[in-house]
Amino acid sequence: MPSVETLRQILSTVPFPGFSRDIVSTGSVTKIDVEGDVVTVSLQADGSDDETRRRLAEAVRQALAGQEGVSEVKVRFAAAGPVRLPVAGQAAEPTPAPPKGPQAKNIIGVASGKGGVGKSTVAVNLAVTLARQGRRVAFLDADVHGPSAPLMFGLEGSRPERADEQGRPLPLEAFGVKIMSMGFFVERGNAVIWRGPIVGNFIRQLLTDVAWGELDDLIIDFPPGTGDAQLTISQTIRMTGAVVVTTPNDLALIDALKAIAMFRKVEIPVLGIVENMSFFVCPGCGEKHEIFGRGGADRAVKDEQIPLLGRVPIDPQVVLESDKGRPVVIDRPEAPAALAYGKIARAVVDAAEVPETGKGGLGRFLERFGGK
Ligand code: ADP
Repeated sequence: MPSVETLRQILSTVPFPGFSRDIVSTGSVTKIDVEGDVVTVSLQADGSDDETRRRLAEAVRQALAGQEGVSEVKVRFAAAGPVRLPVAGQAAEPTPAPPKGPQAKNIIGVASGKGGVGKSTVAVNLAVTLARQGRRVAFLDADVHGPSAPLMFGLEGSRPERADEQGRPLPLEAFGVKIMSMGFFVERGNAVIWRGPIVGNFIRQLLTDVAWGELDDLIIDFPPGTGDAQLTISQTIRMTGAVVVTTPNDLALIDALKAIAMFRKVEIPVLGIVENMSFFVCPGCGEKHEIFGRGGADRAVKDEQIPLLGRVPIDPQVVLESDKGRPVVIDRPEAPAALAYGKIARAVVDAAEVPETGKGGLGRFLERFGGK
């Protein structure tokens, strides 16, 4: 029978399903016990789905089964079930060991029905505004089709290089916000090859294996649309709610409604809508022009009974500032767009604390399951 150390070394050549990192360095192997010719490997795979656990167990068995002196390989999962993250209105359940993954009061997804409506700009300015209010804020850029956080936070070319004492990578930081992005790990332009389950796994790893520390708000910049990746994230993470960004025109609204329907299907409260590029104030005459039409968000608010969190004006300087990694709320805090983001941040926090129906946890429970 090989020694426990040798067995650990063998397991350190086994990649975590779907990833290049091995299962020892990811902390998935918590214990190796040897009794006679039986090896028992304890695994920790919080936040992984059943299929990933099955593949992980199989990989461990395969790696050790052929070793001389080993007649049986048993696999145990140390803590079953998904990571338990506290949600608004509920106390976190006491757990014997410190929970893995971010401890955040609010986990808020910023989503849109389609790309280019200003979702990432809203997400970044929301995060920075909340951090400026003294809140402990993190930003997870899950927009695989074009991770823009490195650019928008002025962190292009940076890599998370520092780790905590447990070897977990520390997020990068800008404007008081802790940031993790797929853009820190893939070359620019390659991100588009990330799809469905791989995205889900990667996000899960970013959530559970990053040293986030204690947070008030975790803002997740979702990929645009309503595909597999969005569903995987929604079902993996215990989210407080979602903010849906749209523009005033009908086409954007149709897509936004699809996003709202998706969140409702997976029972994630939609905290509200942000209408971006709502109007343009002519710098010459001061008149308000509704360039992309009007009424889109109003209709969603009326038909779907979703709060309007705010309207952001078109501001050409926002584009330049975003590209320079200087969010408008930092560069020009008095600009109408920055004031709009400020108002949205307040509305988001208010809505997160009393999600959707305006009732607290018990009210919503009674509404769903009956009773008075
Ligand atoms: P998405 O995340 O929906 O794809 P982005 O946030 O990347 O959209 O924004 C798309 C483009 O629109 C960017 O160039 C951004 O700078 C610009 N933009 C976003 N919001 C505004 C605004 N209020 N006024 C002017 N340009 C904006």
